Amino acid sequence: MASQIKSLATLAYIDEQLDELKDEYGELPDKVRSQEAKVVKLKFMIEETSRLLVDIKAFCSTAKVTLMELKEREEMLAKKQFLVRNNKEFDAVTNEIKFAREEHERLSDRLRTEGLKEENLTKILAEQVSQFETAKIELDYLEQQIKQLSSEQDKTLKDLFKKRDMILSSLNSNPRTHYNRIRVFHSDVVAKIKRDSCSGCYSSLPKQQIVEIRNNFEEVLFYCENCGRMLIGEESFVDESNFDENIKLIKSTK
Ligand SMILES: [Zn+2]
Repeated sequence: MASQIKSLATLAYIDEQLDELKDEYGELPDKVRSQEAKVVKLKFMIEETSRLLVDIKAFCSTAKVTLMELKEREEMLAKKQFLVRNNKEFDAVTNEIKFAREEHERLSDRLRTEGLKEENLTKILAEQVSQFETAKIELDYLEQQIKQLSSEQDKTLKDLFKKRDMILSSLNSNPRTHYNRIRVFHSDVVAKIKRDSCSGCYSSLPKQQIVEIRNNFEEVLFYCENCGRMLIGEESFVDESNFDENIKLIKSTK
């Protein structure tokens, strides 16, 4: 069985490395998410504008036919006016002509307004399509960046996770539970004694505790009373310089 303290210190070093790798992504995932939302929103706007345009075009083509019909009706009524037999009929036909003319005028006005609307919407649609295409290119670029970063990190991550699993299986359940609990509050779970203080929070440690930690042959877990990190002697602390050596040791004594 490898030293539990050494395993914990090695685990802490691995987790710090993993945190740093995660930091490399920085704001990139957030940027991708908001860019995705932008693309979806623009797509929705394009659909909305297109739908309005279809409606307007349908209205315009129907209106053009109706205008022709109204014109024909007016001409027909004008001819009918000559054939009336009395004043009452004359007035009735005159009213019908008036009505057809007014209807023609009203519809012509509306057609002009809708025509302007169509023109504006066509411009808006072109602008939206161009914004959508730009946003899509930006999204592709961001996704490409993430992909590249993750493939670069892939090998390192795999290696670290493999070592992490190996250490976890070498740990007793009690230290593992304590480690995970502290990890909720501190990214660096393990602190060492440095100038008689906790290297995590810099609060000074009781002399008695320092002595106990330095002569910790029973592998008791000590905690900093101030910050709650696990405290270990400097000689057990793991960093870049002794990481590989510790991994070998844990592997061989497992
Ligand atoms: Zn502390």
